[in-house]
Amino acid sequence: MTPRRRKPLRTRIREAGGFYQWFNGTLIRLAGPAQLGEGRGTPCHRCGADKADHVLVDGELRCP
Ligand SMILES: [Zn+2]
Repeated sequence: MTPRRRKPLRTRIREAGGFYQWFNGTLIRLAGPAQLGEGRGTPCHRCGADKADHVLVDGELRCP
């Protein structure tokens, strides 16, 4: 939530590849097979739902 997040669309699309990789890794960590006493991770700060229930659209997380 920094005011300097605004970037040209071209840059955002290019970075989306990296973000997708990062998000995938996070999902695997949160919803992976090893759920021993750690719950399902941190819920979404916007809607409170599990991050695993969100959909990645154009490099941005969409709430369910
Ligand atoms: Zn959400």
